[in-house]
Amino acid sequence: MACPICDAPTDAKFRPFCSKRCADVDLAKWLTGSYAIPSQDEDDVENLAEALDDAIKNDPDRLH
Ligand SMILES: [Zn+2]
Repeated sequence: MACPICDAPTDAKFRPFCSKRCADVDLAKWLTGSYAIPSQDEDDVENLAEALDDAIKNDPDRLH
C-alpha cells in the first residue's frame, strides 16, 4: 500500500500515510476542501464578517 499523499510506502504507525506530515497534509486538504464545497456560502461568510464588523463598531465594549 502506498501513501495517498506522496506515494511513499505506508508506515503502519501512520496508516494509510507514510508519515505524520502526510497525515497532517491530508487533514488540511480535507478541512480546506470542506470549506470550499458550498460555493454559495461565500456570500454567507461575507455577510457574517460584515455583521460582525457592525456589531463591533456599534458595541465595542461587548468584546471586553
Ligand atoms: Zn506520504
